Amino acid sequence: MTELSRMPAAFIGHGSPMNTLEANAFTRAWRELGRTMPRPRAVLAISAHWFVPSTAVTAMAHPRVIHDFYGFPAELFAFQYPAPGSPEIAEEIVEVVRPGLIELDLDSWGIDHGTWSVLAHVFPAADVPVLQLSIHTDAPLAYHLELGACLAPLRERGVFILGSGNVVHNLRRIDWSYGDRGFDWSDRFDTHVRALMTSDPAALADVEQHPDYRMAVPTAEHFLPLAYLAGLCSAAGEAALPFAEGRTLGSLSMTSYLLGMQPPTADGSAPAPQSAG
Ligand code: ZN
Repeated sequence: MTELSRMPAAFIGHGSPMNTLEANAFTRAWRELGRTMPRPRAVLAISAHWFVPSTAVTAMAHPRVIHDFYGFPAELFAFQYPAPGSPEIAEEIVEVVRPGLIELDLDSWGIDHGTWSVLAHVFPAADVPVLQLSIHTDAPLAYHLELGACLAPLRERGVFILGSGNVVHNLRRIDWSYGDRGFDWSDRFDTHVRALMTSDPAALADVEQHPDYRMAVPTAEHFLPLAYLAGLCSAAGEAALPFAEGRTLGSLSMTSYLLGMQPPTADGSAPAPQSAG
């Protein structure tokens, strides 16, 4: 591996925080991704769980591990992901992307479970520096697509950009009897997004017009990390490749996407049923 490799970028459907501790078809695909991709200089994670009225990047040397959920087992609250941060790379990101657009976050955030539940499998040794980019609550979809495109030069600098959310995420509609299946509207929306991401990711700009959008995306925070990958796809002039596809519990999609590398080989089995997340 070399730090000068052009890094792939990804969007991963993270689902339940319990995926941190579980081994299933999704987490196996995440592990395989980490094993097969070039080793990055740093991870820049865009997690659904840092949704605030500003655009900021974590800039602390030792980001805290945030357990931002409740009602889960003590083992999950005890989980640590002691990856370092990098104040230097944070400064570099602010410079490279668009001076003045991104604030440095010195003490408010850290590494939330949208990030560590996935990285626990992708980079289990927690030895790659991790930074997070917040998702601006008040900005329209177009802003997130454009900002994603602005992150493109970071791929040349060894930064692995990882969006972490879920394409379909409607917790009010969770149906435990659905196991690893989705409602019709969930299947339709996930399939629509798959068609966009694999042919013309820039067309994600119009996704809010889809008839199932409001049901699939009742709040934007889990969907928006995908916009960053779509922006990166546009900047590269390439489509994304799906991996770890699947719907669970009726109203969650776990479908994930990669840019710039072939998806890790799936083991061929159907995704295991997931807990809600
Ligand atoms: Zn989440």
